[in-house]
Amino acid sequence: MKRLLETLVENNREITKKGNLASYIPELLNADKNDLGVAVITLDGKVHSAGDCSKKFTMQSISKVVSLILAIQDNGKERVFEKVGMEPTGDSFNSIVNLEIKQKVKPYNPMINAGAIATTALIYGVSEEEKFEKILNFTRKVTGNNDIDINKSVYKSEKLTGDRNRYLAYYLKSNNTIDGDVEDILDLYFKQCSIEVNCIDIAKFASMLANDGILPWSGERVISREVSRIVKTIMVTCGMYDASGKFAVHIGIPAKSGVGGGIMAAVPKRMGIGVYGPSLDKKGNSIAGTHILKELSDELDLSIF
Ligand code: GLU
Repeated sequence: MKRLLETLVENNREITKKGNLASYIPELLNADKNDLGVAVITLDGKVHSAGDCSKKFTMQSISKVVSLILAIQDNGKERVFEKVGMEPTGDSFNSIVNLEIKQKVKPYNPMINAGAIATTALIYGVSEEEKFEKILNFTRKVTGNNDIDINKSVYKSEKLTGDRNRYLAYYLKSNNTIDGDVEDILDLYFKQCSIEVNCIDIAKFASMLANDGILPWSGERVISREVSRIVKTIMVTCGMYDASGKFAVHIGIPAKSGVGGGIMAAVPKRMGIGVYGPSLDKKGNSIAGTHILKELSDELDLSIF
């Protein structure tokens, strides 16, 4: 496995040149465009990795999986899907059109920004600090890494430049889709996006999803089988922005990407995969990371379809 991963990194390193770093969050421009890494955790808990696997990056949209899980655990799936839909959009992740013209009140799904702001708003806690602790502690638990923390510079950068998310959140509030203080909810959303991980961390997270909610390395159940199933299904239909259909056809693995360059992919009953490559394609997915997943899927016959 290690040899295969090393070959994949080697073969796809050149592709990083064809994409671009995300620039709309200025701090993300500090990443190294050539970085590329991949980690696989099989369900016996074994870790295989290659390339720039210890490089840290912010979860960005991968954190939408965390807020969806916590929102369902705190509220039940009925209440969550009263507030957020479960249909793919075909539009970009931060699209305003979806809300204003197409559906008006309910964001299309929990993997676009509006939907994630709505699920983040549903997380219980007596204070904003407590809610963030919950998000952070959950992430630490499912990655088995207690050192995980927020990248303060990225957080500040997001908060300073996040006006589009501000627009989405105030629009949701005006329609009573979210309750509470909009700035507090946004602050929590910016913080969850700024949690810093590496490839191995997200591969571990994915291995828990692949294992139906049980941590492969300890046998502990952290989410129910049903929540794990719902999350993986939404990852298939909506996890790769408006390239989710193409990704399902060519790669066929439940996955969620983030503009920090990470892709978290869960192969049911087989393995968790984490890929990092901050050079992105036009849809916002790691350009070389997607290629690695394609080759890995072909090589090991990973498509669920
Ligand atoms: N923090 C980013 C935003 O809200 C996340 C976007 C992403 O990774 O897709 O714009």
